[in-house]
Amino acid sequence: MPIQVGIIGCGVVGAAIAYTLSQMPGVKVWVWDRRLPQAYEATGAALGVLMAVSSPKLKGRHLQLRLESLRQYEALIPRLQAQTHIEIPYNRQGILKLCFSVDELQRWQAIQGVRQRQGFGLEIWNAVQLSEFYPELMQARCLEPPMGVQGAIYSPDDRQVDPVVLTQALLVGAQRQGAQVRFETEIQAWREERGEMGEGSDRTLTHICTPQGDYALDWLIVAAGLGSVPLAAQWQHPVPMEPVLGQALQLRLPRPWRYPQPVISGNDIHLVPLNAQELWVGATVEFAANAEVPRADRQALERLYQGAIALYPDLAEAQILKTWSGHRPRPVGQAAPVIKRLSPYANVILASGHYRNGVLLAPITATKIQQFLCP
Ligand SMILES: Cc1cc2nc3c(=O)[nH]c(=O)nc-3n(C[C@H](O)[C@H](O)[C@H](O)COP(=O)(O)OP(=O)(O)OC[C@H]3O[C@@H](n4cnc5c(N)ncnc54)[C@H](O)[C@@H]3O)c2cc1C
Repeated sequence: MPIQVGIIGCGVVGAAIAYTLSQMPGVKVWVWDRRLPQAYEATGAALGVLMAVSSPKLKGRHLQLRLESLRQYEALIPRLQAQTHIEIPYNRQGILKLCFSVDELQRWQAIQGVRQRQGFGLEIWNAVQLSEFYPELMQARCLEPPMGVQGAIYSPDDRQVDPVVLTQALLVGAQRQGAQVRFETEIQAWREERGEMGEGSDRTLTHICTPQGDYALDWLIVAAGLGSVPLAAQWQHPVPMEPVLGQALQLRLPRPWRYPQPVISGNDIHLVPLNAQELWVGATVEFAANAEVPRADRQALERLYQGAIALYPDLAEAQILKTWSGHRPRPVGQAAPVIKRLSPYANVILASGHYRNGVLLAPITATKIQQFLCP
C-alpha cells in the first residue's frame, strides 16, 4: 500500500510540497484547495523576488533556509520546464540594490565576506562604478529621508520568478507524477483515531472528509497560508498569524528600458522587469490597526509609486496597467516560516506563515516536509 499524503492548500508552498512528495516512490499525494484554479491568494499577489544572497542577515535559521532554497531553484526551474513544457519566467540577472548612504555601503563589506565563504558572489559598487554600469540609475533618490544614491550592491546569484506560472508548473508536474489535485474543495471536516491514552501524540488524523468522499491518510500537510489559522484553532493548537497587506503595480514605460536586467531594489521597493517596456513595482507593507484585516489604502499605493519614481524618474510618465493587493501570512510570536508537527496529532504537519518570502522558501519547505516523512 502506498503512503497516503494529503495537502491542504495549493498556493506556491502547497504546490512545491505536492511536486516534491509525488516524486517519492510509494507515496500517493492528494491536494485540496478551496479556490478556483485561476484565483490565487497570497501567491497571486507576490512579485517572486528571490532575495537570499542580498539579504542583510549575517547568520541564523532564516538565512540558511533562504540560501538553500535559492540553490534548489537553479535545478528546479530547468527540470520543471523540461517535464511540463511550461515556460517559467525566471530572471537570472540578479538583484541590484541601491544604497543611499556610505555607512550602508560599508556595512555590506562584512556581509560580502560571509557570502563568499558561503559560496556566493556579492559586489559592492561605489557611485563611480554604478555610473559606469548603470548611468540611468545615477538620479535615483530615497524620499525618506531625502538622499541621493551613493552606490549599490550587485548580487548576481539572486533571482526572480513568476509565482503564478511557477505554481501552475509545480501542479502540472505533480499531477504527471501521480498527484491528484481538487480545487473548489474547502477542508472543514476530518476523522481521527485516539490511542489508549486518548491524548497528545496518541491521536492520529485518519481521514479528510470532502463532498466527493472521505480520503484515508497517513500524513496531512497543512499549507493553507492564512487559512491554516482557523484549521489549527479547531485542533486546539492555535497558530497565531496576522495578515500583512501588500499592494503592487504593473507599469508600462513611455520608452523601452534596458532589458534583460536585474531586479532593481531601493528603499524596500522592487522594480521587477517583465519585458523591454513593462515592470512590476512593489510592494507596500501595511499592518492592520486593532487586529483587523488591513484594507488597501490608496495613499500607501501612491507613496509606493512616488518612491518608485524617485528610483527611476521615467516612471513618472508610465502608464499604470493594473494594481493589486494580497495578504502575507505573518506568524505572531514565532519566526517565519512555521514548519512543525501540529499537536495533538502525530501525523499532521504545518507548513505556513512564510510572510514576505513564501515564493523564495517554497522549495526548501518541501524538502523539510520530505524529511518529516523520511527522517
Ligand atoms: C504584494 C506581495 C508581494 C510579495 N512578494 C514576494 C516576493 O517577492 N518573494 C517572495 O518570496 N514572497 C513574496 N510574497 C509573499 C508570498 O506571496 C507568500 O509568502 C506566499 O505566497 C505564501 O504561500 P502559501 O502557499 O503559503 O499561501 P497562499 O498562496 O495564500 O495559499 C494558501 C492556499 O490555501 C488555500 N486554503 C486555505 N484554507 C483552506 C481550506 N480550509 N481548505 C482548502 N484550501 C484552503 C487557499 O485557497 C490558498 O490557495 C509577497 C506577498 C505579497 C502579498
